[in-house]
Amino acid sequence: MSKTLFDKVWDAHVVRKIEGGPDVLFIDRHLIHEVTSPVAFLGLKSRGIKVLYPERTFATADHNTPTINQHLPVSDPLSANQLKALETNSNEYGISHWGLGHQKNGIVHVVGPEYGITQPGSTIVCGDSHTSTHGAFGAIAFGIGTSEVEMVLSTQCIMQPKPKKMRINVTGSLGRGVTPKDVALFIISKLTTSGATGYFVEYAGEVFEKMSMEGRMTVCNLSIEMGARGGMIAPDETTINYVKGREFSPKGEAWDRAMEYWKTLKTDEDAVFDKELTFDGSSIEPMITYGTNPGMGMGISNPIPDAEQVEGGVATYEKSLKYMGFSEGQTMVGKKVDYVFVGSCTNGRIEDFRAFASIVKGKKKAENVTAWLVPGSHIVEAQIKEEGLLDIFNEAGFTLRQPGCSACLAMNDDKIPAGKYAVSTSNRNFEGRQGPGARTMLASPLVAAAAAVTGVVTDPRTLIQ
Ligand code: SF4
Repeated sequence: MSKTLFDKVWDAHVVRKIEGGPDVLFIDRHLIHEVTSPVAFLGLKSRGIKVLYPERTFATADHNTPTINQHLPVSDPLSANQLKALETNSNEYGISHWGLGHQKNGIVHVVGPEYGITQPGSTIVCGDSHTSTHGAFGAIAFGIGTSEVEMVLSTQCIMQPKPKKMRINVTGSLGRGVTPKDVALFIISKLTTSGATGYFVEYAGEVFEKMSMEGRMTVCNLSIEMGARGGMIAPDETTINYVKGREFSPKGEAWDRAMEYWKTLKTDEDAVFDKELTFDGSSIEPMITYGTNPGMGMGISNPIPDAEQVEGGVATYEKSLKYMGFSEGQTMVGKKVDYVFVGSCTNGRIEDFRAFASIVKGKKKAENVTAWLVPGSHIVEAQIKEEGLLDIFNEAGFTLRQPGCSACLAMNDDKIPAGKYAVSTSNRNFEGRQGPGARTMLASPLVAAAAAVTGVVTDPRTLIQ
């Protein structure tokens, strides 16, 4: 019977089918961090259970970590406790721990792929919604809750109902200044934040075939923002070239065996999806959000839509615009910007900093803008320095911070003050996500760069040479 890519990976991991209930899935890799794991370890301790496969579990600290002066003790007591708990639990249960200051430390969804922990055809979970990132490699990857973290630590399995399948095709080519982030924000704006609820999405078409692994990770990362359980892209030569030679990638005969399996990981010609959508890549503009959910996005040259044009209720829509201080019919171009944040598991990779540098090179940071450039890992930080991007940033008046989740969420010192406007390359613009009262506009690193040098929302196409 013809199968989709999703079916192939799912079926290869079913340990047991429960009649009329969920499947029991084997999990190849379990990523943990300081926020969702402490309670799970407490559960294990209270029941006297061990971690079944510590070698399949990897711990990194990211949410609570400061992004400056990482050599100093963490000043916030809650964050310090969380980080200590991750270290103690990892050591006690024999789990690799990449804590603050460790050379491999970084955002969980950045370091996983960098070290070859993320592999095609595997199942990956983490107590974080944006685990969908790893689907870029043709893996089934999804976020889980704290009780499920405990379940996976103790059994290396999880009970999951099989989601429905959706394929989203983006055909043709992207225009100048249009990045993978714009593709994802465009799709979410069309589907809304609940349009893929109950589905696992496969992305297909020329736009994704031509996309780098960094770009594919950005797209899959944002799958969760349209309600999908996850997103995935069939592995190809781009994927194999990325995975080859990384620390935890298979070697020798194991690599050859893995390649045989990975070659089978594509959707069969006549496989059936529960839903299929197709968009024309050339119709996508650089995107920006104007409201308080990632579905409230639009092409940067468009006016903010009227309430009647959008789904979700007029009252909610008006409340959202009021929070942002915007009105229907206004254009975003020219709006004041106070903060620019480049980073997160969505856009904290080397390609994102190259894009940022391509705009700010030879220009100066706008005086009214505070800019936080935060690499997703030490590898990204080192690449930024090796490629001379740091020199470009410094000459333009920018500095580089140290790896971490930073202003993606208000759980560390990098918070946007109340009422201030931030152009952010992260993934969520909910009320208070970047700090109580903070006003977030989600966008690509190119849009962020254009705002950083002009001090206002600017179409990056006007600055591309
Ligand atoms: S960068 Fe943001 S979304 Fe990604 S893991 Fe950190 S907090 Fe979660």
